Amino acid sequence: MTSQDFVQETAGQVPVVRRSDVVVVGGGPAGFAAAVAARREGCSVTLIERYPYLGGLASGGMVLVLDDMNNGFEVTVTGLCMEMIERMARVGTCVYPPKQDQRHGWDVYKKWAHWGVFDFRSATKPNPIVMAAAFDPDGWKRASNEMIEEAGVDVRLHSWFSKAIVRDGRIAGVICETKAGRQAIMGDVVIDTSGDLDVAAAAGARFTEGAYMVTTVFRLGGVDTAEAERFRYEEPEAFALIDKQAKRAVGGSWDRWWLSTPLPGVVWCNCPHMTGYDAMKVEDQTRADFDGRKRIYALVDYVRANMPGFANAHVIDVAPQLGVRQTRLLQGEYVVTKDDVNNRVHFADTVARGRDYYTPYRSMLPQDIDGLIVAGRHYSATESAQKLSREIPPCMSMGQSAGVAAALALSAGIKPRAVSPAAICARVRAQGGDPGDVPSQNATIMETAA
Ligand SMILES: Cc1cc2nc3c(=O)[nH]c(=O)nc-3n(C[C@H](O)[C@H](O)[C@H](O)COP(=O)(O)OP(=O)(O)OC[C@H]3O[C@@H](n4cnc5c(N)ncnc54)[C@H](O)[C@@H]3O)c2cc1C
Repeated sequence: MTSQDFVQETAGQVPVVRRSDVVVVGGGPAGFAAAVAARREGCSVTLIERYPYLGGLASGGMVLVLDDMNNGFEVTVTGLCMEMIERMARVGTCVYPPKQDQRHGWDVYKKWAHWGVFDFRSATKPNPIVMAAAFDPDGWKRASNEMIEEAGVDVRLHSWFSKAIVRDGRIAGVICETKAGRQAIMGDVVIDTSGDLDVAAAAGARFTEGAYMVTTVFRLGGVDTAEAERFRYEEPEAFALIDKQAKRAVGGSWDRWWLSTPLPGVVWCNCPHMTGYDAMKVEDQTRADFDGRKRIYALVDYVRANMPGFANAHVIDVAPQLGVRQTRLLQGEYVVTKDDVNNRVHFADTVARGRDYYTPYRSMLPQDIDGLIVAGRHYSATESAQKLSREIPPCMSMGQSAGVAAALALSAGIKPRAVSPAAICARVRAQGGDPGDVPSQNATIMETAA
């Protein structure tokens, strides 16, 4: 079949299965935060997710460290992100360094670096230990299910968004593919947290197509992490040779290719780094899965035979979701640049924050479609800016602000783009979050929203 072949679809009726004040599409970190925040402001909320669990890349993608949430002298992402961390920690599914260990020094580095809770962007060696959290993917699912239920969000899993319902330039709802056929969910405000901008793109919003490496994240069990760490520090030359070969076998990774998890003997591996795949194409997604698994098995065979601590290692699971870092990016009312991120530009309409950078409300608003807010890794940023500002905590910060913004628009009877950023910040603060409205001492102030 060539791309010139088509079949004609028959027009038909789609049953409306829900009507909510706010419809959130995508149950990842941003969507979870948006749904809970809007519900806590008193809106009825329907949260739609294609997979049978919440968490997106944090659980299904097994991205198991929450980082980019402090700027060296303060924790910058609080709110629902911290609630999630504390809830997971209470039941032993999340680990983070105590305040006194959040500093520079070999003693704390040796104790904490294998959890991945170091400042990986710091040029200082060893990297400083910072506030970051290592968690278990099922711990995330448990905590988010509890918080979503407590808030009273109406969740619809197994529902794959496929079409935006747009009337007179305003989004009025969405259509999902389900086992029961196509279903319409109507909402007064829709929040796109699909990560790939599925809703905004379908609604006709402007976007660019970014790309970055993809990863089949996996976990190994049966690892003697104490022995592996002993080898790293006590036999550095032998370690360096074997570690280099391990990285070569998997074909690309960060400096530490394995990190500890809250489960004893289980490590997660944020590798391989695979380039040349378009994560919006079925053919490429399929090839990436096969390629990733081959590389994983090559690594496991090598470390079982050669790396102290890994003699009994075995694959527990490969993440059910391909690790996709970047696809479509909104071209919203403002496009955040790499300079904005690197220079810590503080905007007059800042409503969210990450490590030491800020998110203007305009970068969450499509130019062309009303009734729609965008939050998460597909927000309006250049490709290079997004690579620096897409970690889980900043996505949750954006999500929380998006949920609050939707509620404010509905209570005032105005369009989301007319909501005052100051009002969003005030309500996010009332919910316990830090929307970044007060710039840190190292921020560059951009006073106007133009
Ligand atoms: C390999 C890898 C390693 C990373 N490492 C780190 C790290 O160490 N620390 C860190 O903080 N961040 C890390 N990140 C970044 C981080 O995981 C993501 O940027 C973050 O999860 C984005 O959150 P999100 O909610 O915007 O999107 P996602 O997590 O992608 O969530 C989107 C949700 O929408 C759902 N969805 C998508 N399309 C549809 C549809 N059509 N219908 C219904 N539902 C849909 C998805 O199933 C998913 O649940 C990493 C990312 C990757 C890929």
